[in-house]
Amino acid sequence: MPTPDYDILIAGGGLVGASLACALSGRGLRMALVEARPPTTRPDPRRLAIAYTSRCILNSLGVWSGIPACPIQTVQVSQQGSFGQVQLRHHELDVPALGYVVTAHDLEQALQRPPYPDVQRWQPATLEDISLHSDGLQVTVQRPDGLQHRVTTRLLVAADGGQSSIRQQLNIPVLQHDYQQVAILADVQLPQSHQCMAYERFTTEGVFALLPMQHQQATLVHTVARTQQDTLLAMDDEAFADYVGTAFNGRLATPLRFSPRLSYPLHLLKAYQHTRPRTVLIGNAAHTLHPIAGQGFNLGLRDVAALAEQIAKAQCTGLDIGSPAVLNRYVKERDWDQLTGIAFTDGLVRVFGGGSPSLRRLRSLGLGLLDALPPAKRLLARHTMGLQGRQSRLARGLPLPQPVGEPSA
Ligand SMILES: Cc1cc2nc3c(=O)[nH]c(=O)nc-3n(C[C@H](O)[C@H](O)[C@H](O)COP(=O)(O)OP(=O)(O)OC[C@H]3O[C@@H](n4cnc5c(N)ncnc54)[C@H](O)[C@@H]3O)c2cc1C
Repeated sequence: MPTPDYDILIAGGGLVGASLACALSGRGLRMALVEARPPTTRPDPRRLAIAYTSRCILNSLGVWSGIPACPIQTVQVSQQGSFGQVQLRHHELDVPALGYVVTAHDLEQALQRPPYPDVQRWQPATLEDISLHSDGLQVTVQRPDGLQHRVTTRLLVAADGGQSSIRQQLNIPVLQHDYQQVAILADVQLPQSHQCMAYERFTTEGVFALLPMQHQQATLVHTVARTQQDTLLAMDDEAFADYVGTAFNGRLATPLRFSPRLSYPLHLLKAYQHTRPRTVLIGNAAHTLHPIAGQGFNLGLRDVAALAEQIAKAQCTGLDIGSPAVLNRYVKERDWDQLTGIAFTDGLVRVFGGGSPSLRRLRSLGLGLLDALPPAKRLLARHTMGLQGRQSRLARGLPLPQPVGEPSA
């Protein structure tokens, strides 16, 4: 096969695919990004809790300063009807904030703002007919008007989300679990300052996470049994404000004014393999998590930082960026963080999502103990901040290695 058209073809221009394009731009790589959604699609309404390490990575990518973000300085974890509660405070961990809250739309805009002359964008388009050749992959870029382009690449990165068609085309098996739950989302205007405090509240109805946002607003993520979805979406604003106020037992100042509510189905997905010849799965295509701990994008961004580092190292040593050696190093580096991220999130759903009296007693005891044990609390906080395990160069604020003689971007 002659020299491939691209060094890297990224399928999916969501937050994870766009972050990878941003991380690798300016390194002399020929890249293309294929995104199925038309550019005019309505903004992503999600609000994301960004872990401390993710902020460091986004800062290294040069996009953080352009994103309006509200710091989370304290997290209060409590259970309705019991005294046990945990408070995590930023100064106990010597960090300016435990995390930040941003809108997915602002993040997406910031990632797309710089012009990337080395990234060809195919949008709207999808990828089909993947076939392996000696020095690369051949794929079809399919446009909705019926036009097709047959292109070749050294490496295909599947960042095409939880329903990844690349993963399905390559018959990669997955572990899947339907939680039979939905997340109900709404923004709320607060009557007084939130003081950068986030709440996680466990009740018999489900879990309520209230995250501080800019301009005295907060955002609510309420995970609840799917059978409750229609009732909660149909409630009038006053009844919904009462429902939330009761769950927080008067801890929130009233009146609470909510925006229209949205709902998302929730499930767990983990691909059993993350690579195939010249292909790697990252972000939700590799692992889709329940949002109870706000870890999904954070985990995906750490995939991006690790993959970008392995690609940069391969460029420096003259290795083929799509070779098994490079992809296996990436998988090995990400394995532990991904497994613990999935186990932590799934464990939280099982322990904190259930409403049986014995689980409630156990949780109450656990929360009380955790608050009384600073080392355990510190461990929990470090995990949610993404500080466990080896930190990538981008997370440590270091640039990616540059091939000798190449100017840095
Ligand atoms: C209610 C809720 C709250 C959340 N809160 C948080 C939080 O607080 N913190 C956090 O870290 N995470 C959170 N998450 C998770 C986070 O939103 C996801 O992990 C993250 O957006 C995944 O990004 P991605 O780019 O991997 O996938 P996606 O966002 O799914 O992007 C995939 C992209 O690929 C495109 N695509 C699909 N198929 C194709 C194809 N065949 N060809 C080309 N393009 C294709 C899609 O159009 C899409 O743009 C939350 C999730 C939910 C549901």
